Amino acid sequence: MNDLSTESVLTGTAAAPGIAIGPALRYRQPAVAGHGFRLVQAESRYRETGTAHLEIQRLDEAIAATDAAMRETEARLQAEGKGAESHIFESHRALLHHPGLYDRAVTLISKAGWRAPDAIVEAGEHQASPLGDTDNPYLKAYAANIRDVVGQVRRFLVREQTLADLLTRPSIVVADDLGLSEWMDVPRERLLGLALAAGGTTAHSMIMARSLGIPTVIGLGTAALRTLRDGVMLALDGTTGQVVVAPSEETIAHLRVVAAELAEHQAAMYRQRDLPSITRDGQHVVLLANAGTVIEAQAAREWGAAGIGSLRTELLFLGQPKLPDEEEQLALYQAIAAELPGCPVTVRTLDVGGDKHLPSFPLPRESNPFLGWRGIRIGLSQPEQILLPQLRAMLRAGADADVRIVLPMVTTVSEVREVKALLQQAHGELVAAGVRCCAVPRLGVMVEIPSAALVADCLARECDFLSIGSNDLIQYTLACDRTNQRVANLYQPLEPAVLRLIANVIEAAHRYGQRVSLCGEMASDPTLTALLIGMGVDELSCTPMALPLVRAAVRATSAAKARELAQAVLQAACLDEVQVLIHTYGPTEVEVEGEGEG
Ligand code: PEP
Ligand code: MG
Repeated sequence: MNDLSTESVLTGTAAAPGIAIGPALRYRQPAVAGHGFRLVQAESRYRETGTAHLEIQRLDEAIAATDAAMRETEARLQAEGKGAESHIFESHRALLHHPGLYDRAVTLISKAGWRAPDAIVEAGEHQASPLGDTDNPYLKAYAANIRDVVGQVRRFLVREQTLADLLTRPSIVVADDLGLSEWMDVPRERLLGLALAAGGTTAHSMIMARSLGIPTVIGLGTAALRTLRDGVMLALDGTTGQVVVAPSEETIAHLRVVAAELAEHQAAMYRQRDLPSITRDGQHVVLLANAGTVIEAQAAREWGAAGIGSLRTELLFLGQPKLPDEEEQLALYQAIAAELPGCPVTVRTLDVGGDKHLPSFPLPRESNPFLGWRGIRIGLSQPEQILLPQLRAMLRAGADADVRIVLPMVTTVSEVREVKALLQQAHGELVAAGVRCCAVPRLGVMVEIPSAALVADCLARECDFLSIGSNDLIQYTLACDRTNQRVANLYQPLEPAVLRLIANVIEAAHRYGQRVSLCGEMASDPTLTALLIGMGVDELSCTPMALPLVRAAVRATSAAKARELAQAVLQAACLDEVQVLIHTYGPTEVEVEGEGEG
């Protein structure tokens, strides 16, 4: 069966899984040149002289209208039971009222004679541009959120047609980049999928696309998308990152089968979210989730996590115009704990530095940021500003939840002793002031620097549990920047040097009766589950969406056989040998139980 279509395939990055088939609707944000606002009508930038107060009034009205629209969407989502999604609008509203944004726009209007729409766009770009030009996905996401918020204010000022106005039939939206507020008010049945030239998988917009099940491919490039006509048929696969232009009937039929299989797979995974995480021979492996947002904590609950293994507080603070104070932090920790009542929540103290930057806590320029001022080093050098308020907020949140504390980027035992003294101090202060708090909670060390792995026995004696941060442990062991594509071939979790350090940590912790969790990305890879169980890891803290597959992998594992595998792997001399052994152990494809059931 061959039709006359001449299909072609565009390849980007898969950002939200699912299949979408439908006509393209090209959406061009007016006056916004793709990734980064650039003013295209410089000659119309200036207002009439003497009208500054009117322009500022217009700006105030547009900000108030944007705020009201966001509140309305927030309330609608709350009413639909999508509490976590509604939180995104809360943080967008915080950006809307960012003093730096407003003050700069007002200065441009009053001092430089600019018109309100251009002034707010320039003020937004002033904030977003330095962040968006880095390789850091978190900063890129923050920059995208600023641009999204500013774009909405601008639309109120110039009364442009929105995507919701343009989308009159079900379509796949093709755009350079798309902020959350640009598509959130579009009726869901008309938004089949998103094909974007730019974008970052961790932008709020993409978190929401995944959460709402809107198949999305990003990073397709402006040149490729420019060739697409409005109305041309597209078949988009948000799992492989491919967009087929003018698909043949065979392609469409094939993708419809894939879509049905995906739906069945998802339903089967969901059905098994409460199955016990026990190996075939009865060993219990605790499955936890990593979280840095309320949405992730909610997803953790949805997918059956037994708690939060690592709450990356720096991500929780990302949308905030200033570093949250003790009260604000308390509210954030309580909000996360409320998503998983009765479950342990391991809160990690602030881990900025390296590739993680908080706009609310600017860091000095360093020639080796990964080896510089980051993690607990910052907390300890500014206890009054960073560590003590954070510890107090955690102790207070612990009054109503099972809060545990973990310390990032520990290099030496002395650092742990210093934190323990500060924790006692914070606790003493709260008790003396009569503030409700828990007893001093369990304190753990994140082992992610080789020095910490080598003195894991001393650390185990000093604290209550160890948590292996494999993402950083790999980069520091192999001297290989985790963000640098040029050395990505060296960044290998299965390198014997990495595995031997992990084995050392587990053995040392168990010798002192301490449990070990692993919370780097290795924990989310079901092909490594058997090896990690065989090596003795007690708890795996995964990306929430990975939980069902890791659970299936645990249930498919024989712990006894996995221990034999681990013993053999720890004798291996190189990566290839490790891979052969793992392959020989058993199939790396994990089957989901109950697949095909109704
Ligand atoms: C790690 O390094 O493995 C880890 C969990 O911390 P992060 O990825 O936040 O640096
Ligand atoms: Mg780390």
